[in-house]
Amino acid sequence: MGLMIDIKKQYKDFTLEVNFDNRGSRLGIIGASGSGKSMLLKCLAGIITPDEGKIILNGRPLFDSVQGINVKPQRRKIGYLFQNYALFPHMTVAENIGIGLPKADKDQMAKILKIMDRFHLTALSEKYPRQISGGQQQRVALARCMILEPEILLLDEPFSALDDHLKDHLQKEVMDYLSDFNGDVVLVSHSRDEIYRMSDSLMVMEHGKSSFMGTTHEAFKSPKYKYVAKLTGCKNFSDLEDDGTFYFAKSWGLQYPKTQFLDVPKYLGIRAHDFIVHHELIEMPSNRLLRGKVLRTVEDIFELTFYIKPLHPSVSEDAEVVFKIAKSKWENRKIPDALILEIPLEHLIPLYA
Ligand code: ADP
Ligand code: MG
Repeated sequence: MGLMIDIKKQYKDFTLEVNFDNRGSRLGIIGASGSGKSMLLKCLAGIITPDEGKIILNGRPLFDSVQGINVKPQRRKIGYLFQNYALFPHMTVAENIGIGLPKADKDQMAKILKIMDRFHLTALSEKYPRQISGGQQQRVALARCMILEPEILLLDEPFSALDDHLKDHLQKEVMDYLSDFNGDVVLVSHSRDEIYRMSDSLMVMEHGKSSFMGTTHEAFKSPKYKYVAKLTGCKNFSDLEDDGTFYFAKSWGLQYPKTQFLDVPKYLGIRAHDFIVHHELIEMPSNRLLRGKVLRTVEDIFELTFYIKPLHPSVSEDAEVVFKIAKSKWENRKIPDALILEIPLEHLIPLYA
């Protein structure tokens, strides 16, 4: 069961080409703005018709260009939470929630009351969208989806309009509301934190093309490809040059024996939080230590960020390494002119093009 999709849609300046087979319960789709995430969800929901291909949900074909199948949006059993919630401003909370139910449904009122109770909206039932908060509007939009008992729920950047504090709270709340939902969830976001917290498996969209990455936690731990590493928040990359017996990490000025890697990576990556800082010189193999000049620092509430130029003659002028450390660990030290950073081998990420 699950969701199988293999579609193509061509516009003048943009081509969507998506192919995946998801059996996990929660699929996260991450991609930069404009990569085609919303367009993909619209194809799933039946709002956009692909040029060719098929979409199969739990064994039921929703779209099949060869067989001429194109199930209407209202019959797809797909819940779609839009980026901006799209509530009707002239309808009350209760009316908004019931809007998708068939007019002839005798249990309409009972269903609305039940879902309002479950989503803690009963007290707001007669309010209009403008009279309630952004978080409450989101809950109404979610209730409006869930009342139709969808087989799959599509969430399009559901938290992007909210401030950080509210976001953390609502992510948890939505997860709680969805915990007794048996269907699949597809969550689209450009926020790596959101995807990491809320999805089991990961798909990456880039310029309209999809790549399936396996489980979310594994993909964040070992991203494999440079563009995936970037999307998961990795800040430091170096090209690898083949020196015969060694690989030379050009942006860092460090050499690695070829035997260190199973195959032939094109880049190395290391996350800004994964360095270990040494405040005095220590004995260690030279390829584990990166010495650099501190170019500038940025101080946040709980964290310090250092921008560092590696001190190695063959490192290019514009090479820059980003190092982040919790202020509690930095312990009020003065900002030095130079730093010694250890690169723990277990945090070195071999990457491919
Ligand atoms: P995302 O949701 O990942 O930010 P979208 O799916 O909204 O991206 O858009 C992907 C690309 O397709 C963008 O370049 C956008 O300009 C283009 N696009 C979106 N809708 C249409 C359309 N109806 N016709 C032509 N191009 C579109
Ligand atoms: Mg979008």
